[in-house]
Amino acid sequence: MRLIIIGAGFAGMYAALSAARLRDIQGVSPEELEIALVAPEPTLVVRPRLYEQKPETLTAPLLDVLNAIDVVYVQGSAESIDTKSRVVQVATAKGTRKTLSYDRLVVATGSRLFRPNIPGLAEHGFSVDQLDDAIALDRHLHSLPDRPAMNGRDTVVVAGGGFTGIEAATEMPARLRKILGKDAKPRVIIVDRNSAIAPDMGEGPRPVIEEALRKIGVETRLGAGVASLDKSGVTLSNGEHIETETVIWAAGIRAAPLTQQIPAERDNFGRLLVDRDLRVPGVAGVFATGDAARAACDDVGNYALMSCQHATRMGAFAGNNAAAELLGVPTKPYHQKGYVTCLDLGEAGALFTVGWERQVKMVGDVGKKTKQEINTVWIYPPKAERAAALASADPERVTDVTGFF
Ligand SMILES: Cc1cc2nc3c(=O)[nH]c(=O)nc-3n(C[C@H](O)[C@H](O)[C@H](O)COP(=O)(O)OP(=O)(O)OC[C@H]3O[C@@H](n4cnc5c(N)ncnc54)[C@H](O)[C@@H]3O)c2cc1C
Repeated sequence: MRLIIIGAGFAGMYAALSAARLRDIQGVSPEELEIALVAPEPTLVVRPRLYEQKPETLTAPLLDVLNAIDVVYVQGSAESIDTKSRVVQVATAKGTRKTLSYDRLVVATGSRLFRPNIPGLAEHGFSVDQLDDAIALDRHLHSLPDRPAMNGRDTVVVAGGGFTGIEAATEMPARLRKILGKDAKPRVIIVDRNSAIAPDMGEGPRPVIEEALRKIGVETRLGAGVASLDKSGVTLSNGEHIETETVIWAAGIRAAPLTQQIPAERDNFGRLLVDRDLRVPGVAGVFATGDAARAACDDVGNYALMSCQHATRMGAFAGNNAAAELLGVPTKPYHQKGYVTCLDLGEAGALFTVGWERQVKMVGDVGKKTKQEINTVWIYPPKAERAAALASADPERVTDVTGFF
């Protein structure tokens, strides 16, 4: 029997860990149930940190932990899935192809930034979405001191005033001063179509964010979208032109394209609709998880967000359930009651909220301490020690924040 997991992000990593955990508990050998993880690299890209400096350091190795739990790593990118004959085609960077059959499949291919067809965006826009994007932005920022200090060289425009845009923008003043010199006076501007910053955060946390932006001098242009980009800068839908050499696109996210190969229903973000066991209804043997899936978290109408917090726990349930079906033991319906948000606000600290209504619990330096702990400890893979790694993937315990706050 073979269980294939596609994707080595938070969801894929925990799917592998928890499938291996259940196999171990059931006393089944890796020969009887092979668990294989397909991904271009055997590393976890710590996406929630990609707005930070030194992005090239923001990965964690996975090979040792996969070896420790007897999960087979298959290097490559899944190119096609044939759900009728239960076969995945994997392409390697060297151009070779491998065909793998599966008994159960977990699609954990995550998400990607959606770049609309705005003139100049493809040529001139940067982002902090994937590792390569963040490295390209960082290189560009480090090249700024070699350019003439004019034409908006020290101005950064961030398109999108949601979570990612705010984190990228609030980190930027200190990051630019490090690069341009402490006397530099960088300008950072967030542009968003909505009339309020952080449209999803709600009324409670918004004043904290607005105060933080004021404190560190991040400007906003609200109620106006980006109309076009060119070498000289960005033009907004209200006609304003902002001179800049750095535009960071942080508006809109979609499930990775592989999900389109599963013949099933998807939402507006391209996420596969899944049942409570994270199974894709109507497609035998296929589960979807993390940013690739739209799943109910509870019975009162909350759905998992495209977030690390949800991806990690959804991964653990999907891996467990896919293995459970093969091992003939009951599946566990995914549920996630606790929900917190922790938004980095650069030199203004961080904002920590609890619950779906986002009740503010921590701000400033106290919030920042928690954010740093989340970003440097909580979201990293477990150590490559078999027993501890397997124990870390108990689906009932993974990112269960209910007891913490
Ligand atoms: C700048 C930034 C800040 C963020 N901040 C937060 C935050 O504060 N809190 C929070 O909870 N979330 C945050 N997020 C969101 C979070 O990073 C994602 O929700 C999370 O990474 C989703 O995990 P995942 O495993 O579903 O997908 P991903 O982490 O995207 O992993 C997908 C994996 O699938 C692989 N893959 C894709 N296609 C294929 C293929 N065809 N074949 C093989 N492998 C494939 C990829 O290489 C990767 O290994 C942030 C994201 C960004 C970009």
